[in-house]
Amino acid sequence: MPVNKEAYSILNNQLKEKNVCLVAVSKTKPIEDIRTLYDLGQRDFGENYVQELVEKEAALPKDIRWHFIGHLQSNKVKYIAPFVHLIHGVDSFSLLKEINKQALKNNRIIDCLLQIHIAKEETKFGFDEQELKQLQGLEALKNMRIIGLMGMASFSDDKALIRKEFRNLKTIFTEKAQLSTFNFQLSTLSMGMSGDYTIAVEEGSNMVRIGSLLFGERNYTH
Ligand SMILES: *Cc1c(COP(=O)(O)O)cnc(C)c1O
Repeated sequence: MPVNKEAYSILNNQLKEKNVCLVAVSKTKPIEDIRTLYDLGQRDFGENYVQELVEKEAALPKDIRWHFIGHLQSNKVKYIAPFVHLIHGVDSFSLLKEINKQALKNNRIIDCLLQIHIAKEETKFGFDEQELKQLQGLEALKNMRIIGLMGMASFSDDKALIRKEFRNLKTIFTEKAQLSTFNFQLSTLSMGMSGDYTIAVEEGSNMVRIGSLLFGERNYTH
């Protein structure tokens, strides 16, 4: 399926007007598809798999801002630490520590978003509100910076439920944004995908992660 350039330009204009950052989620999609959007001016791309991200980064222009949006295993942080722009799904303190360590090795500061549970389905990953309260020892991690929160709503047709979950995340975000230290300053709220970004933006998202709307449905069978 070809890249939907028309959908891109409409979406891009819509989101620019609202100061919402568009992360084009290119996981499983070929280099040429990324190049197509790059040539239209897109610079923020999101990937879920470390190996795939490393290969794409090597093959594409260096001014792309690569977002890691998948579940990141601690032992793989080192592969993306030299170049990653933002890690969205940080779900444990031990992962933060590893990111900090690898950032230090690369003489960088790596920006992160904490993933918060908002969906009603139980998923394995992410902080809940209680754990977020207890995040201690952050000030020792001088090579990482928490700049926001990320969440995924329930996979559901129930728009009211999705709205409620996004609203809940926005409330947590607003509350936590009052805190401010050198490495904890919330400005980015990453919520919304192809199916629910409209609701997410209405509820205060300023970063959306959109794949299938731009690149077409994914085929996981290859
Ligand atoms: C795949 C993925 C997306 C994009 O999903 P679409 O429905 O294709 O827009 C967004 N966020 C995360 C975390 C993803 O894994």
